[in-house]
Amino acid sequence: MNSVFVYCEIEDGQVAEVSQELMTKGRSLANELKCKLEAIVIGHQLEGVEEQIFPYGVDTVHVADDKRLFPYSTLPHTSIIVKLFEEQKPQIALMGASSIGRDLGPRVSSALHSGLTADCTSLVIGDHLDKKQDKNYENLLYQIRPAFGGNIIATIINPDCRPQMATVREGVMKKQVLDPKYKGKVVKLDVAKYVSDADFAVEIIERHMEKSKVNMKGAPIVVAGGYGMGSKENFQLLYDLAEVLGGEVGASRAAVDAGYVEHERQIGQTGVTVRPKLYIACGISGQIQHRAGMEESAQIIAINTDPEAPINAVADYVITGDVAEIIPKMIKYYKKNTK
Ligand code: FAD
Repeated sequence: MNSVFVYCEIEDGQVAEVSQELMTKGRSLANELKCKLEAIVIGHQLEGVEEQIFPYGVDTVHVADDKRLFPYSTLPHTSIIVKLFEEQKPQIALMGASSIGRDLGPRVSSALHSGLTADCTSLVIGDHLDKKQDKNYENLLYQIRPAFGGNIIATIINPDCRPQMATVREGVMKKQVLDPKYKGKVVKLDVAKYVSDADFAVEIIERHMEKSKVNMKGAPIVVAGGYGMGSKENFQLLYDLAEVLGGEVGASRAAVDAGYVEHERQIGQTGVTVRPKLYIACGISGQIQHRAGMEESAQIIAINTDPEAPINAVADYVITGDVAEIIPKMIKYYKKNTK
């Protein structure tokens, strides 16, 4: 059985979170398919990188190490992956829907004529009966994602071409080490065989990495506000609540669009995905595009004037009422009871 492959992004010597999440998912897919999980890492000074990769249950890691391969640039990374996939013929290939994955994935899939589903929210193995051809396809990758503006959840399959390629955004899949002592095999690629001089036509002269001050993903508690907060000034209530609880402030797209809060705090399909221990949704209706970014939270409290708000369907606790009355009370009683 051909392998499941994960492209591992690396920055400052660390395998990216999204790649760790994809290796976790890749391991479970490989178990189901009874095949190997393999990873490819491309960059420079990668000695020992496999120690970060094997614990996720990776059987083989292919390493392309060359000073010209860091920082990331499109052409050489594409050439290496395309040639490696032509040799190894993976059945599934996963990449992060990061700025790198979004650049690399379409290039690779176009070169291999394989197709690609971007921004999947779920990946599942399943069968497909093609009634027209009266043919049953077994063990396909169901590439599941919202489509048509989030109005439907589409399951996309690719019965005929390989690899079945998908990108997934950071935070969507769970990250879990399989076994810290898991040992696989390292295959060092002879880079010269995979790239040509033409791949280095673009030279990166300078890079500037913008670091966000907001740590939505790492926050154990997220206090998120929606359009129902009513104004930018009212959002201060959420910062106050987040401060007493030790959490971070998030928002719906409608709140971002209304200018109540900056875009980097947006949660949902076109924002970040969070899965905190506690998510407090304040004045958020809970449309599917918002829920896609928060419904895996361990506990959800919804505060809304509308008892029928869709957010209530995914909430563990529902408080029906006005945020302007409820949030100050929450702050007051939380302070009182934690003294
Ligand atoms: P509304 O839907 O207007 O809801 C406001 C809620 O506040 C209502 O339920 C109301 O009952 C309640 N309310 C009003 N006043 C009060 C009060 N005083 N106290 C308590 N409750 C009150 N949305 C996202 O959030 N994230 C995304 O990433 C995202 N991506 C999208 C991508 C696409 C392609 C599309 C088409 C849409 C996307 N959206 C996204 C938008 C999404 O469809 C909704 O429009 C948006 O989530 C609504 O935000 P909201 O719940 O804050 O506002």
